[in-house]
Amino acid sequence: MSRFNTRDLDRLGNQVSVPIKADDGGYLGRECPVKECLGYFKITPGTGIKGPAPCHCPYCGHTGDQNTFWTQEQLDYARSVVIRKVTDAIHQDLKSLEFEHRPVGPFGIGISLKVQPGRPHPIKYYREKQLETEVVCDNCTLRYAIYGVFGWCPDCGIHNSFQILAKNLEFARKELALTESAEKDFADHLIGDALENVVSAFDGFGREICARKAADIQFQNLNGARRRVQDVFALDFADVLTPQDWEKACRVFQKRHLLAHKMGVVDEDYVKKTNDPQAILGHKITVTRDEVTATIGLIEALGKRLFDEILRLGRATRPPRPH
Ligand SMILES: [Zn+2]
Ligand SMILES: [Zn+2]
Repeated sequence: MSRFNTRDLDRLGNQVSVPIKADDGGYLGRECPVKECLGYFKITPGTGIKGPAPCHCPYCGHTGDQNTFWTQEQLDYARSVVIRKVTDAIHQDLKSLEFEHRPVGPFGIGISLKVQPGRPHPIKYYREKQLETEVVCDNCTLRYAIYGVFGWCPDCGIHNSFQILAKNLEFARKELALTESAEKDFADHLIGDALENVVSAFDGFGREICARKAADIQFQNLNGARRRVQDVFALDFADVLTPQDWEKACRVFQKRHLLAHKMGVVDEDYVKKTNDPQAILGHKITVTRDEVTATIGLIEALGKRLFDEILRLGRATRPPRPH
């Protein structure tokens, strides 16, 4: 008679490791363990910080051990693989018990034990989700993907807002380069469009970093933004520019306001706010390529100053003033 042995079960040991593979794009899904967040994102293993490093949630900034960032689907998959391995091993071990005694003589009774192949435990396969923005961190080179646009780098923890601003400014530069070979009408249109993109990119960037500090500040009007940032963060971010450059940047932002809301025709508000010697009430303003190119450089400097002070150095907000 054969004896039951647990050879196959023993072989599994008391730890079963289940490899979790990257998707076709080389990404591994991750999920923030914080209950209120549970944010989903993806990283490409091996592209960021070398050696063990904690993981940062790009959405809420929670920092924790890499092992706490498995997605629910990955855990369900791993569990199902383990159960399958264990049940398969038990099945194999039971199989070793099989015997068959044929009946002997006319009154003999035949006894047999056959282990029937049961339905194997199903593996819960999963597929990583598509995300909206792919980023290669310019600080640690991690390749990651997130919903929305802005977030903290999962490896080094730096916020990507300045990197996104720089990328958008680069697009505007490329748009301006196209004007060299374009007809005048179309070139003017491209210049206006590039300016619009610069203003939107800076506004989106500025709002985002202020929102990280629970402050609500708009950046389409530079003078207004400067006052608000001074109020909330005790920071004059315009101090990286000469007063002349600051005035130039403000004027170009006001031109964009005219283009966006007044078909580019000069109104009293513009004249009052900019002291633009070339502006004539009721005439169209002109925006040149060089003007927008120069503005891009100025905006980059202002953005860097805001980013360094508010997010990198973590400048605190001022307590609200008593009324
Ligand atoms: Zn989170
Ligand atoms: Zn990074």
